[in-house]
Amino acid sequence: MFKRFVYLVLALILLHGAAGAQPEKAKNVILFLADAGGVSTVSAASLHGYGEPQRLFVQSWPNLALSDTSPASDWVSDSAAGMTAIVTGEKTQNGVISMDATTVRNKTDGRVLKTILEYAEERGLSTGVVTDMSIVDATPAACYAHSNNRSKSGEIILQAFKPRFGDGVDVLIGSGRNAVETALKAMEKDWDTVGSGPGRPVFASLDQIQAADARPVAILEGAVDVPAAARIALDRLERNPRGYFLMIEWDAHTDRLPGGLDRLVNFDKLIREIAGRVDLKETLLLFTADHSFSLSVYSGRRSEPLLKGLDEWKEKNAGQKTKFVELPNVRIYNTHTGEEVIATAIGPGAGRVRGFLPNTRLFGIMLEAWGWSPDPPGR
Ligand SMILES: [Zn+2]
Repeated sequence: MFKRFVYLVLALILLHGAAGAQPEKAKNVILFLADAGGVSTVSAASLHGYGEPQRLFVQSWPNLALSDTSPASDWVSDSAAGMTAIVTGEKTQNGVISMDATTVRNKTDGRVLKTILEYAEERGLSTGVVTDMSIVDATPAACYAHSNNRSKSGEIILQAFKPRFGDGVDVLIGSGRNAVETALKAMEKDWDTVGSGPGRPVFASLDQIQAADARPVAILEGAVDVPAAARIALDRLERNPRGYFLMIEWDAHTDRLPGGLDRLVNFDKLIREIAGRVDLKETLLLFTADHSFSLSVYSGRRSEPLLKGLDEWKEKNAGQKTKFVELPNVRIYNTHTGEEVIATAIGPGAGRVRGFLPNTRLFGIMLEAWGWSPDPPGR
């Protein structure tokens, strides 16, 4: 009887503690964006990388939602509309970078939408954008720029150096150097005029970044070592006592196998590493995709590689542009698709990631994790 009473008191104390606890707030938010990493791609990455389902680190996270990626007027999203929704909380038209749905692509500007990176800059946090794709590609661009057309590379990169809030994105690392250089040339600009104004050299390799470079910009030609770039970014962003926002994108399009699945397995390993590095009591980690991709697992056995027959298929189709990839176990129709993608999270505010939600809600979830409110409409 007495024992039972003690248990009751203990339970009451625990309950009271839980109810009375301050809602946990994030100091830092890291958004991991697997471009085109839909449900079936995430699932296949585990089969490909580990020969078993649900072995990815992100598949161990308890907070999970299905996020609708449809843009303002279509069912199927490109990276521009998909990422705009995630980082601004508003759906827009395909091809549009962080402007609202009234934008007519390549014709007229819509209302400029404030991005999560700009909210963070405005509040004195440090910010970073890391991608294995072109630094002006739609996903990174939607964080730091606004344009009525994702193809306006010159206009987009210039905005990285002319921020609307704070001192602009602090760490910027991506690919596409030659193409951006060509776009700048068309505007009668070059790396020196872009970089020297605000006193920021645009490095051509990660090796050129010195420990003393607190706000490095590196735009490389060819492959980006994403884990190395992420470490460079975190080393710097972590110095800000107010916290930081970091977006890391790693392309998971599976049109050229095994690339997309290999990259997603490696992305997941990087996320595991970062989860071990940051303080998860004050850092929200959110993993999602901007849109899905048409990959399906049709067949296969635990004892065999998921992508068996890939070499033979490549040999047979060498030099041809194919819309389909057809392997014994996997079929890919080379296109984005419209179904929901996974959003999953750990850290403060991660509990809000649940159920079916629109991708615009992810913006609110990141903002609320910091304890911030969105600007009133019209600002
Ligand atoms: Zn995309």
